[in-house]
Amino acid sequence: MAYDVDLFVIGAGSGGTRAARIAAGHGAKVMIAEEFRVGGTCVIRGCVPKKLMVYASRFVDEFAEAAGFGWTVPQPSFDWPHFVAAKEKEITRLSAIYTTNLHKSGVEILAARATLQDANTILLSDGRTVTAKTILVATGGTPALHPDVPGKELAITSNEIFDLPEFPKRMLIVGGGYIAVEFASVFARIGSAVTLAVRSDNVLRGFDEDMRVGLRDALLEAGVDLRFGCLPTGIEKDADGLRVTMSGCDPIVVDQVLVATGRDPHTRGLGLEKAGVKLGPKGEIVVDDWSCTNVPSIYAVGDVTDRVNLTPVAIREGHAFADTVFGSKKVRVDYSKIATAVFTTPEIGTVGMSEDEARTIASRVDIFAATFKPMKAALSGRKELTIMKIVVDADSDKVLGVHILGESAGEMAQILGIVIKMGGTKADFDETMAVHPTAAEELVTMRVRRMRHERIEPDPMVPGMADGVGE
Ligand code: FAD
Ligand code: NDP
Repeated sequence: MAYDVDLFVIGAGSGGTRAARIAAGHGAKVMIAEEFRVGGTCVIRGCVPKKLMVYASRFVDEFAEAAGFGWTVPQPSFDWPHFVAAKEKEITRLSAIYTTNLHKSGVEILAARATLQDANTILLSDGRTVTAKTILVATGGTPALHPDVPGKELAITSNEIFDLPEFPKRMLIVGGGYIAVEFASVFARIGSAVTLAVRSDNVLRGFDEDMRVGLRDALLEAGVDLRFGCLPTGIEKDADGLRVTMSGCDPIVVDQVLVATGRDPHTRGLGLEKAGVKLGPKGEIVVDDWSCTNVPSIYAVGDVTDRVNLTPVAIREGHAFADTVFGSKKVRVDYSKIATAVFTTPEIGTVGMSEDEARTIASRVDIFAATFKPMKAALSGRKELTIMKIVVDADSDKVLGVHILGESAGEMAQILGIVIKMGGTKADFDETMAVHPTAAEELVTMRVRRMRHERIEPDPMVPGMADGVGE
Protein backbone atom coordinates (compact mmCIF):
# COMPACT_ATOMS: atom_id res chain seq x y z
CA MET A 1 0.00 0.00 0.00
CA ALA A 2 1.23 3.53 -0.80
CA TYR A 3 1.46 5.98 2.11
CA ASP A 4 1.75 9.78 2.02
CA VAL A 5 5.00 9.62 4.03
CA ASP A 6 7.43 7.03 5.33
CA LEU A 7 7.47 8.56 8.82
CA PHE A 8 5.07 10.83 10.66
CA VAL A 9 6.39 12.21 13.97
CA ILE A 10 3.96 13.62 16.55
CA GLY A 11 5.77 16.20 18.70
CA ALA A 12 8.79 18.35 17.76
CA GLY A 13 10.60 18.12 21.09
CA SER A 14 13.96 16.58 21.97
CA GLY A 15 13.15 13.03 20.83
CA GLY A 16 10.88 13.84 17.89
CA THR A 17 13.15 16.36 16.16
CA ARG A 18 16.20 14.10 16.45
CA ALA A 19 14.28 11.10 15.09
CA ALA A 20 12.82 13.13 12.20
CA ARG A 21 16.19 14.55 11.12
CA ILE A 22 18.04 11.24 11.30
CA ALA A 23 15.26 9.33 9.50
CA ALA A 24 15.24 11.97 6.75
CA GLY A 25 19.01 11.60 6.54
CA HIS A 26 18.49 7.90 5.91
CA GLY A 27 16.33 8.83 2.92
CA ALA A 28 12.86 8.65 4.49
CA LYS A 29 10.07 11.08 3.55
CA VAL A 30 9.23 12.65 6.93
CA MET A 31 6.54 14.95 8.35
CA ILE A 32 6.51 16.27 11.92
CA ALA A 33 3.55 17.91 13.72
CA GLU A 34 3.96 20.35 16.62
CA GLU A 35 0.99 21.86 18.42
CA PHE A 36 2.93 24.44 20.47
CA ARG A 37 6.48 25.52 19.66
CA VAL A 38 9.26 23.64 17.87
CA GLY A 39 11.92 22.59 20.39
CA GLY A 40 9.59 21.04 22.95
CA THR A 41 9.71 21.16 26.71
CA CYS A 42 13.49 21.34 27.06
CA VAL A 43 13.97 24.36 24.83
CA ILE A 44 10.74 26.26 25.45
CA ARG A 45 9.81 25.61 29.09
CA GLY A 46 12.30 23.20 30.61
CA CYS A 47 16.06 22.76 30.74
CA VAL A 48 17.07 25.84 28.76
CA PRO A 49 14.98 28.64 30.35
CA LYS A 50 15.48 26.90 33.72
CA LYS A 51 19.28 27.03 33.35
CA LEU A 52 19.08 30.68 32.32
CA MET A 53 17.12 31.32 35.51
CA VAL A 54 19.73 29.44 37.52
CA TYR A 55 22.43 31.69 36.05
CA ALA A 56 20.33 34.74 36.90
CA SER A 57 19.95 33.58 40.50
CA ARG A 58 23.66 32.89 41.03
CA PHE A 59 24.65 36.52 40.58
CA VAL A 60 23.23 37.07 44.05
CA ASP A 61 25.98 34.89 45.51
CA GLU A 62 28.63 36.50 43.33
CA PHE A 63 27.64 40.00 44.47
CA ALA A 64 27.72 38.88 48.11
CA GLU A 65 31.08 37.14 47.75
CA ALA A 66 32.76 39.99 45.89
CA ALA A 67 33.14 42.08 49.05
CA GLY A 68 35.42 39.46 50.63
CA PHE A 69 37.79 39.90 47.67
CA GLY A 70 37.91 43.68 48.00
CA TRP A 71 35.09 44.75 45.71
CA THR A 72 32.48 47.34 46.58
CA VAL A 73 29.28 46.43 44.82
CA PRO A 74 26.34 48.86 44.82
CA GLN A 75 23.06 47.41 46.11
CA PRO A 76 22.01 45.13 43.24
CA SER A 77 18.40 44.89 42.10
CA PHE A 78 16.69 42.40 39.81
CA ASP A 79 14.44 43.32 36.88
CA TRP A 80 12.12 40.33 36.30
CA PRO A 81 10.45 41.64 33.08
CA HIS A 82 13.93 42.25 31.63
CA PHE A 83 14.92 38.66 32.39
CA VAL A 84 11.68 37.23 30.95
CA ALA A 85 12.15 39.21 27.72
CA ALA A 86 15.82 38.20 27.38
CA LYS A 87 14.93 34.56 28.03
CA GLU A 88 12.14 34.72 25.43
CA LYS A 89 14.54 36.11 22.84
CA GLU A 90 16.98 33.26 23.43
CA ILE A 91 14.42 30.44 23.28
CA THR A 92 12.90 31.99 20.13
CA ARG A 93 16.39 31.93 18.59
CA LEU A 94 16.88 28.28 19.59
CA SER A 95 13.43 27.26 18.35
CA ALA A 96 14.23 28.88 14.99
CA ILE A 97 17.47 26.87 14.78
CA TYR A 98 15.52 23.65 15.40
CA THR A 99 13.07 24.65 12.66
CA THR A 100 15.87 25.48 10.21
CA ASN A 101 17.65 22.20 10.90
CA LEU A 102 14.45 20.22 10.29
CA HIS A 103 13.91 22.08 7.00
CA LYS A 104 17.54 21.56 5.98
CA SER A 105 17.12 17.83 6.57
CA GLY A 106 14.09 17.81 4.29
CA VAL A 107 11.50 17.31 7.04
CA GLU A 108 8.09 18.94 6.50
CA ILE A 109 6.86 20.72 9.64
CA LEU A 110 3.12 21.02 10.33
CA ALA A 111 2.01 23.54 12.95
CA ALA A 112 -0.93 21.47 14.16
CA ARG A 113 -2.12 19.06 16.79
CA ALA A 114 -2.00 15.48 15.53
CA THR A 115 -4.02 12.50 16.72
CA LEU A 116 -4.22 8.91 15.59
CA GLN A 117 -7.12 7.59 13.51
CA ASP A 118 -5.71 4.08 13.14
CA ALA A 119 -2.36 2.32 12.96
CA ASN A 120 -1.28 4.29 9.86
CA THR A 121 -3.50 7.38 9.73
CA ILE A 122 -3.05 10.76 11.45
CA LEU A 123 -5.75 13.39 11.80
CA LEU A 124 -4.50 17.00 12.00
CA SER A 125 -6.26 19.79 13.89
CA ASP A 126 -6.72 21.65 10.56
CA GLY A 127 -8.88 18.74 9.34
CA ARG A 128 -6.36 17.10 7.02
CA THR A 129 -5.43 13.43 7.26
CA VAL A 130 -2.05 11.96 6.47
CA THR A 131 -1.13 8.30 6.05
CA ALA A 132 2.28 7.04 7.16
CA LYS A 133 4.08 3.70 6.96
CA THR A 134 5.54 4.39 10.42
CA ILE A 135 4.30 6.72 13.15
CA LEU A 136 6.51 7.96 16.00
CA VAL A 137 4.75 9.33 19.09
CA ALA A 138 7.08 11.80 20.85
CA THR A 139 4.55 13.93 22.73
CA GLY A 140 6.51 14.23 25.99
CA GLY A 141 4.84 14.78 29.35
CA THR A 142 2.59 17.25 31.15
CA PRO A 143 2.78 18.47 34.76
CA ALA A 144 0.82 16.30 37.21
CA LEU A 145 -1.27 18.40 39.60
CA HIS A 146 -1.21 16.80 43.06
CA PRO A 147 -2.82 16.77 45.52
CA ASP A 148 -6.33 17.17 44.15
CA VAL A 149 -7.58 19.98 46.42
CA PRO A 150 -10.24 22.71 46.14
CA GLY A 151 -8.75 25.73 44.39
CA LYS A 152 -5.96 23.79 42.66
CA GLU A 153 -6.75 25.70 39.44
CA LEU A 154 -5.24 28.76 41.17
CA ALA A 155 -1.86 27.03 41.27
CA ILE A 156 0.70 27.18 38.47
CA THR A 157 3.12 24.59 37.10
CA SER A 158 6.54 24.79 35.47
CA ASN A 159 4.67 25.57 32.22
CA GLU A 160 3.66 29.00 33.55
CA ILE A 161 6.57 29.86 35.85
CA PHE A 162 8.85 31.22 33.12
CA ASP A 163 6.48 33.92 31.95
CA LEU A 164 4.81 35.24 35.10
CA PRO A 165 3.89 38.88 34.52
CA GLU A 166 5.03 39.78 38.04
CA PHE A 167 7.83 38.42 40.19
CA PRO A 168 6.26 36.44 43.07
CA LYS A 169 7.49 37.86 46.37
CA ARG A 170 5.99 34.96 48.31
CA MET A 171 5.91 31.47 46.90
CA LEU A 172 4.73 28.05 47.97
CA ILE A 173 6.33 25.20 46.04
CA VAL A 174 4.77 21.75 46.41
CA GLY A 175 6.97 18.69 45.76
CA GLY A 176 10.49 17.59 46.55
CA GLY A 177 11.80 16.42 43.18
CA TYR A 178 14.06 17.99 40.56
CA ILE A 179 11.70 20.81 39.58
CA ALA A 180 10.66 21.75 43.13
CA VAL A 181 14.19 22.05 44.51
CA GLU A 182 15.58 23.79 41.43
CA PHE A 183 12.91 26.49 41.52
CA ALA A 184 13.09 26.79 45.33
CA SER A 185 16.81 27.49 44.99
CA VAL A 186 16.31 29.96 42.14
CA PHE A 187 13.42 31.97 43.58
CA ALA A 188 14.87 32.10 47.10
CA ARG A 189 18.05 33.61 45.65
CA ILE A 190 16.30 36.11 43.41
CA GLY A 191 14.29 37.40 46.35
CA SER A 192 11.11 35.38 46.98
CA ALA A 193 10.15 34.15 50.42
CA VAL A 194 9.94 30.47 49.43
CA THR A 195 8.15 27.74 51.34
CA LEU A 196 8.75 24.20 50.10
CA ALA A 197 6.10 21.65 51.10
CA VAL A 198 7.22 18.04 50.74
CA ARG A 199 5.09 15.02 51.55
CA SER A 200 7.94 12.91 52.90
CA ASP A 201 10.83 13.63 55.28
CA ASN A 202 13.37 14.93 52.77
CA VAL A 203 13.85 16.14 49.20
CA LEU A 204 15.03 14.14 46.16
CA ARG A 205 13.95 10.61 46.99
CA GLY A 206 16.20 8.09 45.26
CA PHE A 207 19.33 10.25 45.36
CA ASP A 208 22.27 9.39 47.61
CA GLU A 209 21.43 10.15 51.23
CA ASP A 210 24.43 12.46 51.75
CA MET A 211 23.39 14.53 48.74
CA ARG A 212 19.83 14.77 50.05
CA VAL A 213 20.94 15.88 53.50
CA GLY A 214 23.52 18.29 52.06
CA LEU A 215 20.99 19.86 49.71
CA ARG A 216 18.37 20.14 52.46
CA ASP A 217 20.90 22.06 54.57
CA ALA A 218 21.85 24.27 51.61
CA LEU A 219 18.20 25.13 50.93
CA LEU A 220 17.74 26.05 54.59
CA GLU A 221 20.89 28.18 54.37
CA ALA A 222 19.40 29.93 51.31
CA GLY A 223 16.39 30.86 53.43
CA VAL A 224 13.88 28.32 52.11
CA ASP A 225 11.18 27.49 54.65
CA LEU A 226 11.22 23.68 54.39
CA ARG A 227 8.09 21.90 55.53
CA PHE A 228 8.23 18.12 55.55
CA GLY A 229 5.17 15.87 55.92
CA CYS A 230 3.09 18.83 54.81
CA LEU A 231 0.73 19.30 51.85
CA PRO A 232 -1.93 21.82 50.76
CA THR A 233 -5.56 20.97 51.54
CA GLY A 234 -7.13 23.97 49.78
CA ILE A 235 -6.30 27.23 47.98
CA GLU A 236 -8.43 30.38 48.08
CA LYS A 237 -7.85 33.81 46.57
CA ASP A 238 -8.40 36.88 48.75
CA ALA A 239 -7.23 40.50 48.81
CA ASP A 240 -3.90 39.53 50.34
CA GLY A 241 -3.02 36.81 47.85
CA LEU A 242 -3.52 33.05 47.79
CA ARG A 243 -4.49 31.62 51.16
CA VAL A 244 -3.38 27.99 51.39
CA THR A 245 -4.56 25.64 54.12
CA MET A 246 -2.18 22.79 54.85
CA SER A 247 -2.23 19.38 56.46
CA GLY A 248 0.71 18.81 58.79
CA CYS A 249 1.72 22.48 59.03
CA ASP A 250 0.37 26.03 59.42
CA PRO A 251 -1.63 27.79 56.68
CA ILE A 252 0.23 30.26 54.51
CA VAL A 253 -0.51 33.30 52.29
CA VAL A 254 1.52 33.60 49.09
CA ASP A 255 1.51 35.25 45.65
CA GLN A 256 1.97 31.99 43.71
CA VAL A 257 1.64 28.27 44.38
CA LEU A 258 3.91 26.21 42.13
CA VAL A 259 2.96 22.55 41.94
CA ALA A 260 5.92 20.33 41.00
CA THR A 261 4.71 16.85 41.83
CA GLY A 262 5.93 14.93 38.80
CA ARG A 263 4.92 14.75 35.15
CA ASP A 264 2.44 12.44 33.40
CA PRO A 265 3.07 10.95 29.96
CA HIS A 266 1.24 13.05 27.37
CA THR A 267 -1.08 10.36 25.95
CA ARG A 268 -4.57 11.63 26.74
CA GLY A 269 -6.72 12.49 23.71
CA LEU A 270 -4.12 11.19 21.25
CA GLY A 271 -6.41 8.51 19.78
CA LEU A 272 -4.01 5.74 20.83
CA GLU A 273 -6.94 3.48 21.70
CA LYS A 274 -8.21 3.74 18.10
CA ALA A 275 -4.91 2.30 16.93
CA GLY A 276 -4.87 -0.30 19.73
CA VAL A 277 -1.68 0.99 21.38
CA LYS A 278 -1.08 -0.49 24.83
CA LEU A 279 -0.58 1.91 27.76
CA GLY A 280 1.01 1.26 31.18
CA PRO A 281 -0.41 2.17 34.61
CA LYS A 282 0.74 5.82 34.47
CA GLY A 283 -0.67 6.25 30.95
CA GLU A 284 2.77 5.74 29.44
CA ILE A 285 3.19 4.07 26.05
CA VAL A 286 4.61 0.59 26.53
CA VAL A 287 7.50 -0.09 24.14
CA ASP A 288 10.14 -2.75 23.58
CA ASP A 289 13.92 -2.27 23.53
CA TRP A 290 13.65 -0.66 20.07
CA SER A 291 10.87 1.75 21.11
CA CYS A 292 8.23 -0.22 19.18
CA THR A 293 4.72 -0.43 20.67
CA ASN A 294 2.48 -3.49 20.46
CA VAL A 295 1.31 -2.08 17.09
CA PRO A 296 4.18 -2.76 14.63
CA SER A 297 3.77 0.51 12.68
CA ILE A 298 3.76 2.72 15.82
CA TYR A 299 6.83 3.63 17.86
CA ALA A 300 7.28 5.99 20.82
CA VAL A 301 10.29 7.75 22.37
CA GLY A 302 11.00 10.20 25.19
CA ASP A 303 8.95 11.17 28.23
CA VAL A 304 5.76 9.71 26.75
CA THR A 305 7.27 6.27 27.41
CA ASP A 306 8.29 7.20 30.99
CA ARG A 307 11.63 5.38 30.90
CA VAL A 308 14.26 7.93 32.01
CA ASN A 309 12.73 11.39 31.62
CA LEU A 310 15.75 13.44 30.60
CA THR A 311 16.52 15.31 27.38
CA PRO A 312 19.67 13.42 26.38
CA VAL A 313 17.79 10.15 26.83
CA ALA A 314 14.89 11.29 24.60
CA ILE A 315 17.43 12.38 21.97
CA ARG A 316 19.29 9.07 22.14
CA GLU A 317 16.02 7.12 21.88
CA GLY A 318 14.93 9.18 18.86
CA HIS A 319 18.27 8.60 17.15
CA ALA A 320 18.27 4.87 17.91
CA PHE A 321 14.71 4.54 16.57
CA ALA A 322 15.62 6.27 13.29
CA ASP A 323 18.77 4.16 12.83
CA THR A 324 16.87 0.97 13.62
CA VAL A 325 13.87 1.57 11.38
CA PHE A 326 15.36 3.65 8.54
CA GLY A 327 19.12 3.00 8.78
CA SER A 328 20.87 -0.25 8.29
CA LYS A 329 21.62 -0.98 11.98
CA LYS A 330 19.49 -2.03 14.92
CA VAL A 331 20.38 0.19 17.88
CA ARG A 332 19.30 -0.45 21.45
CA VAL A 333 19.66 2.39 24.02
CA ASP A 334 21.83 1.61 27.06
CA TYR A 335 20.18 3.06 30.16
CA SER A 336 22.94 2.13 32.61
CA LYS A 337 24.98 4.69 34.52
CA ILE A 338 23.29 7.83 33.20
CA ALA A 339 24.89 10.92 34.70
CA THR A 340 22.48 13.64 35.82
CA ALA A 341 22.52 17.01 37.56
CA VAL A 342 20.13 18.93 39.76
CA PHE A 343 20.66 22.63 39.12
CA THR A 344 20.19 23.97 42.60
CA THR A 345 22.88 26.14 44.17
CA PRO A 346 25.02 24.31 45.12
CA GLU A 347 24.17 21.81 42.40
CA ILE A 348 24.21 18.04 42.50
CA GLY A 349 26.08 15.98 39.94
CA THR A 350 25.68 12.25 40.15
CA VAL A 351 26.38 9.08 38.22
CA GLY A 352 25.89 5.45 39.17
CA MET A 353 24.62 3.93 42.38
CA SER A 354 23.89 5.59 45.67
CA GLU A 355 25.46 4.08 48.78
CA ASP A 356 22.19 2.40 49.76
CA GLU A 357 21.66 0.98 46.26
CA ALA A 358 25.23 -0.34 46.14
CA ARG A 359 24.75 -2.15 49.44
CA THR A 360 21.86 -4.10 47.90
CA ILE A 361 24.01 -5.52 45.07
CA ALA A 362 27.58 -5.73 46.45
CA SER A 363 28.60 -7.84 49.42
CA ARG A 364 31.22 -5.29 50.54
CA VAL A 365 31.04 -1.59 49.79
CA ASP A 366 33.74 1.00 50.49
CA ILE A 367 32.75 4.62 50.83
CA PHE A 368 35.20 7.47 50.32
CA ALA A 369 33.83 10.88 51.17
CA ALA A 370 34.93 14.42 51.81
CA THR A 371 33.12 17.52 53.00
CA PHE A 372 34.91 20.83 52.66
CA LYS A 373 34.52 24.54 52.26
CA PRO A 374 35.30 25.56 48.69
CA MET A 375 38.51 27.61 48.40
CA LYS A 376 36.58 30.68 47.28
CA ALA A 377 34.64 30.67 50.55
CA ALA A 378 37.87 31.25 52.52
CA LEU A 379 37.81 34.93 51.59
CA SER A 380 34.13 35.42 50.92
CA GLY A 381 33.00 33.87 54.18
CA ARG A 382 30.27 31.96 52.40
CA LYS A 383 28.93 29.02 54.44
CA GLU A 384 28.33 26.67 51.50
CA LEU A 385 29.91 23.20 51.77
CA THR A 386 31.03 20.89 49.01
CA ILE A 387 30.36 17.18 49.52
CA MET A 388 31.97 14.46 47.40
CA LYS A 389 31.40 10.77 47.69
CA ILE A 390 32.76 7.73 45.87
CA VAL A 391 30.96 4.39 46.22
CA VAL A 392 33.23 1.42 45.54
CA ASP A 393 32.65 -2.33 45.25
CA ALA A 394 35.30 -3.45 47.77
CA ASP A 395 35.76 -6.86 46.13
CA SER A 396 36.38 -5.71 42.54
CA ASP A 397 37.53 -2.13 43.33
CA LYS A 398 35.05 -0.92 40.64
CA VAL A 399 33.60 2.52 41.27
CA LEU A 400 29.84 2.02 41.41
CA GLY A 401 28.84 5.63 41.88
CA VAL A 402 30.11 9.17 42.36
CA HIS A 403 28.02 11.91 43.96
CA ILE A 404 28.91 15.57 44.27
CA LEU A 405 27.14 18.53 45.84
CA GLY A 406 28.98 21.70 44.96
CA GLU A 407 29.96 24.19 42.31
CA SER A 408 30.14 22.72 38.78
CA ALA A 409 29.00 19.30 40.03
CA GLY A 410 26.99 18.82 36.82
CA GLU A 411 30.07 19.48 34.69
CA MET A 412 32.10 17.00 36.76
CA ALA A 413 29.32 14.37 36.54
CA GLN A 414 29.49 14.49 32.74
CA ILE A 415 33.19 13.57 32.73
CA LEU A 416 32.82 11.05 35.57
CA GLY A 417 30.07 9.43 33.51
CA ILE A 418 32.73 8.37 30.98
CA VAL A 419 34.99 6.94 33.70
CA ILE A 420 32.19 4.97 35.34
CA LYS A 421 30.88 3.76 31.97
CA MET A 422 34.40 2.49 31.19
CA GLY A 423 34.40 0.50 34.43
CA GLY A 424 36.93 2.70 36.26
CA THR A 425 38.30 1.42 39.58
CA LYS A 426 39.23 3.31 42.71
CA ALA A 427 42.88 2.48 41.86
CA ASP A 428 42.38 4.33 38.53
CA PHE A 429 41.17 7.38 40.45
CA ASP A 430 44.13 7.11 42.85
CA GLU A 431 46.67 6.82 40.03
CA THR A 432 45.36 9.96 38.35
CA MET A 433 47.40 13.08 39.07
CA ALA A 434 45.45 15.90 40.71
CA VAL A 435 44.76 19.24 39.02
CA HIS A 436 45.62 21.77 41.65
CA PRO A 437 44.02 23.87 43.03
CA THR A 438 40.58 22.62 42.08
CA ALA A 439 37.67 21.12 43.96
CA ALA A 440 37.68 18.15 41.60
CA GLU A 441 41.15 17.09 42.77
CA GLU A 442 39.42 15.78 45.85
CA LEU A 443 38.10 12.95 43.69
CA VAL A 444 41.60 11.58 43.07
CA THR A 445 43.03 12.28 46.52
CA MET A 446 40.39 10.70 48.76
CA ARG A 447 42.06 7.97 50.77
CA VAL A 448 40.00 7.72 53.95
CA ARG A 449 37.34 5.04 54.05
CA ARG A 450 34.16 6.10 55.74
CA MET A 451 31.82 4.04 57.86
CA ARG A 452 28.20 3.72 56.83
CA HIS A 453 26.25 6.93 57.58
CA GLU A 454 29.29 8.43 59.31
CA ARG A 455 29.22 12.17 58.80
CA ILE A 456 32.55 13.71 57.84
CA GLU A 457 33.03 17.08 59.43
CA PRO A 458 34.34 19.78 57.09
CA ASP A 459 38.07 20.34 57.27
CA PRO A 460 38.54 23.99 58.24
CA MET A 461 42.32 23.99 57.61
CA VAL A 462 42.55 23.14 53.96
CA PRO A 463 39.80 24.71 51.90
CA GLY A 464 39.44 22.76 48.68
CA MET A 465 41.70 19.97 49.96
CA ALA A 466 40.07 18.06 52.80
CA ASP A 467 42.71 15.37 52.57
CA GLY A 468 45.73 17.64 52.20
CA VAL A 469 47.48 18.22 48.88
CA GLY A 470 47.33 14.80 47.33
CA GLU A 471 48.88 12.08 49.45
P1 FAD B 1 9.09 17.11 24.76
O1 FAD B 1 10.38 17.81 24.67
O2 FAD B 1 8.17 17.46 25.86
O3 FAD B 1 8.37 17.32 23.36
C1 FAD B 1 7.05 16.91 23.13
C2 FAD B 1 6.43 17.86 22.11
O4 FAD B 1 5.24 17.28 21.62
C3 FAD B 1 6.02 19.20 22.72
O5 FAD B 1 6.60 20.24 21.97
C4 FAD B 1 4.51 19.22 22.62
O6 FAD B 1 3.98 20.51 22.39
C5 FAD B 1 4.28 18.31 21.42
N1 FAD B 1 2.98 17.66 21.37
C6 FAD B 1 2.34 16.99 22.35
N2 FAD B 1 1.20 16.46 21.90
C7 FAD B 1 1.11 16.80 20.59
C8 FAD B 1 0.16 16.52 19.57
N3 FAD B 1 -0.92 15.77 19.81
N4 FAD B 1 0.35 17.04 18.34
C9 FAD B 1 1.45 17.79 18.07
N5 FAD B 1 2.38 18.07 19.01
C10 FAD B 1 2.22 17.57 20.24
N6 FAD B 1 15.98 17.30 31.36
C11 FAD B 1 17.32 17.34 31.40
O7 FAD B 1 17.97 16.43 30.86
N7 FAD B 1 17.99 18.38 32.01
C12 FAD B 1 17.34 19.40 32.59
O8 FAD B 1 17.96 20.32 33.14
C13 FAD B 1 15.91 19.40 32.57
N8 FAD B 1 15.22 20.40 33.11
C14 FAD B 1 13.85 20.40 33.04
C15 FAD B 1 13.15 21.46 33.62
C16 FAD B 1 11.78 21.48 33.57
C17 FAD B 1 11.03 22.63 34.20
C18 FAD B 1 11.07 20.42 32.93
C19 FAD B 1 9.57 20.42 32.86
C20 FAD B 1 11.75 19.35 32.36
C21 FAD B 1 13.15 19.34 32.42
N9 FAD B 1 13.88 18.28 31.86
C22 FAD B 1 15.26 18.31 31.93
C23 FAD B 1 13.21 17.14 31.21
C24 FAD B 1 13.20 17.31 29.68
O9 FAD B 1 12.66 18.55 29.34
C25 FAD B 1 12.40 16.19 29.03
O10 FAD B 1 12.88 14.94 29.47
C26 FAD B 1 12.48 16.25 27.50
O11 FAD B 1 12.04 17.48 27.02
C27 FAD B 1 11.65 15.12 26.89
O12 FAD B 1 11.67 15.21 25.49
P2 FAD B 1 10.49 14.59 24.62
O13 FAD B 1 10.93 14.65 23.21
O14 FAD B 1 10.09 13.29 25.17
O15 FAD B 1 9.25 15.54 24.86
P1 NDP C 1 10.02 14.25 40.25
O1 NDP C 1 9.53 12.89 39.93
O2 NDP C 1 11.47 14.51 40.21
O3 NDP C 1 9.50 14.65 41.70
C1 NDP C 1 8.13 14.61 42.02
C2 NDP C 1 7.95 15.09 43.45
O4 NDP C 1 6.56 15.19 43.71
C3 NDP C 1 8.53 14.13 44.47
O5 NDP C 1 9.03 14.86 45.54
C4 NDP C 1 7.29 13.34 44.92
O6 NDP C 1 7.37 12.88 46.23
C5 NDP C 1 6.23 14.41 44.83
N1 NDP C 1 4.90 13.85 44.65
C6 NDP C 1 4.51 12.92 43.75
N2 NDP C 1 3.20 12.68 43.88
C7 NDP C 1 2.75 13.45 44.87
C8 NDP C 1 1.48 13.63 45.48
N3 NDP C 1 0.42 12.94 45.09
N4 NDP C 1 1.38 14.51 46.49
C9 NDP C 1 2.47 15.19 46.92
N5 NDP C 1 3.69 15.07 46.39
C10 NDP C 1 3.83 14.21 45.38
O7 NDP C 1 9.21 15.20 39.28
P2 NDP C 1 9.41 16.73 38.86
O8 NDP C 1 8.05 17.22 38.58
O9 NDP C 1 10.25 17.46 39.83
O10 NDP C 1 10.21 16.60 37.49
C11 NDP C 1 9.75 15.73 36.46
C12 NDP C 1 10.90 15.09 35.76
O11 NDP C 1 11.52 16.01 34.86
C13 NDP C 1 12.05 14.65 36.67
O12 NDP C 1 11.81 13.42 37.28
C14 NDP C 1 13.19 14.60 35.71
O13 NDP C 1 13.15 13.37 35.03
C15 NDP C 1 12.89 15.75 34.78
N6 NDP C 1 13.65 16.94 35.19
C16 NDP C 1 15.01 16.90 35.12
C17 NDP C 1 15.76 17.98 35.53
C18 NDP C 1 17.25 17.91 35.45
O14 NDP C 1 17.77 17.05 34.76
N7 NDP C 1 17.97 18.81 36.11
C19 NDP C 1 15.15 19.19 36.03
C20 NDP C 1 13.71 19.14 36.06
C21 NDP C 1 13.00 18.05 35.65
P3 NDP C 1 8.02 11.44 46.59
O15 NDP C 1 9.47 11.58 46.42
O16 NDP C 1 7.58 11.21 47.97
O17 NDP C 1 7.42 10.47 45.61
